[in-house]
Amino acid sequence: MTTQQTAQKNDQQILQKFVDTLDHWLTEEDIGLNMYGCVECNQCGEACAWYIETGEEEMHPKVRADFVRKVWKRYKTPMGKFLGSLGLIDSPTVDDLRKNMYIYWQCTLCGRCTLACPMNISNRSLYRAMRAAYTESGLSYENPTLKSIIENTEKLRHSFGLTREFVFSRPGLFLGYEGVEVPVDVKGAEYLFVCPSAGNTRIPEYGVKLIKILNAAQINYTISSKVTDTGTEIDHIAVHHELSKVMLEEWEQAAEELQSKYVVVAECGCDVRTMYVEAEKTLGRPFKFPIVSIDTILEQAIDNGSLPVEPIDESVTFHDPCYVTRLSGRGDEYRRFLPKVVKDFREMIPNKEHNYCCNGGAGGMRLPENTEKRRKISRLKAEQIKNTGADLVTTPCAVCYLNLKDTTEVYGLATPDNRKARMLFEIVYDAMMKALKKRGEEDRVRMPYLFKKMNKEEQIKHSLSGFMEQLTRSSQFPELLKKLKDDANVKNYAKENPGFWKYFEKIEKEVMATQN
Ligand code: SF4
Ligand code: SF4
Repeated sequence: MTTQQTAQKNDQQILQKFVDTLDHWLTEEDIGLNMYGCVECNQCGEACAWYIETGEEEMHPKVRADFVRKVWKRYKTPMGKFLGSLGLIDSPTVDDLRKNMYIYWQCTLCGRCTLACPMNISNRSLYRAMRAAYTESGLSYENPTLKSIIENTEKLRHSFGLTREFVFSRPGLFLGYEGVEVPVDVKGAEYLFVCPSAGNTRIPEYGVKLIKILNAAQINYTISSKVTDTGTEIDHIAVHHELSKVMLEEWEQAAEELQSKYVVVAECGCDVRTMYVEAEKTLGRPFKFPIVSIDTILEQAIDNGSLPVEPIDESVTFHDPCYVTRLSGRGDEYRRFLPKVVKDFREMIPNKEHNYCCNGGAGGMRLPENTEKRRKISRLKAEQIKNTGADLVTTPCAVCYLNLKDTTEVYGLATPDNRKARMLFEIVYDAMMKALKKRGEEDRVRMPYLFKKMNKEEQIKHSLSGFMEQLTRSSQFPELLKKLKDDANVKNYAKENPGFWKYFEKIEKEVMATQN
């Protein structure tokens, strides 16, 4: 067989796998309404930031959807097969699939186009099936970021490729410095809290505030030493359904082993959507544990008085994550919650389900080739924020936060050293610290509820500080320590906590003494 014939055979196999996967993941609604219901009014274009701000034809929601329709109809309908075999309609090739691949990742699957559509066509549903087809046919592996997300998840169960030791040692160091404990692997804890990879990779220095809130509020929670990623990126960026299923099952298994009552969804828009909407479809059955949002727990704690707060003085606007508000219907809860921690709350216009996307989710930010365009289209978001005149913009999603931070810096509303963007739990943290300082009860952040019932030995066994202690004695720790010293998040934490490097040096010396 010649090289050309081999290439042709490979392409045939890729195309076959692609169309079969696409067909498999299209829903009944896709095959009915979404495939045939478009009346070509173009109103969806007026709703999509990627199209509004670039004017590029390929960024129009309908154009993206038309290519899905073209591929599926040509290869999966009797009429398409017949007309295609006679050469009367286009037959998209593997090269056409490659050429168009980027348009499905220059879209955050935010669903805003559906709001504008008189036929209620879900373009995002078609695009998700398309992403799955790219992934299962192997074409996604030609993109280095998608390839790394899939391979990292397969090998390390962490989409950024961080080891378990690295994931735990950064907050371990920060909390160790502040003398704050975290319960690890405590059986019978009411809540199992797992931090998504975007959070524990990109903002661990701020994530420690959430632990302090949980301690101060005396929440009955534990973290698991086994799960370091919730599958956020594999479900929403790579759309690898098999691996998503594995991640959900491992999350369930951790909860089963720990006999937890609830699984807590952190401030991550993709996780909210996964757990409240997609999990049942991915697993083919309901998730085994009741799901509760971290912000629901915090609001309850404020309401029942276990979490003292005093609303902060800064004016605050709220960015609705598309996956939390538009796609999971949780926007009103935040309007109830925010006035409890903020005196001067200012709505963005438009807001709730009509809000513009941050443009970072579902790969918008993660794929570096999107950066220039993403920043260009985020002008809309910057304008929204600026028009509120608010001091701060907050959001209950780690990826939205990262994108808002970037956008406010790019558009001159903030600097890296003077952040305007905040995670919502950071606002709660400030409100809590304001109240605790007044009461002289700042120490409440240190001791988790579950430790009160344990003796010293059990506390060490089930604490992050105990985990760190063991780690410092391992042969891999000196290498890990070097990595931590150079880590951008560790440096950022040290900038905001000037005494930290002294603490770090002390650990370094102790480790060197032990290892020698
Ligand atoms: S889902 Fe969002 S980003 Fe994608 S086409 Fe629709 S409006 Fe645009
Ligand atoms: S708004 Fe709906 S019907 Fe109109 S072009 Fe877009 S997808 Fe088609």
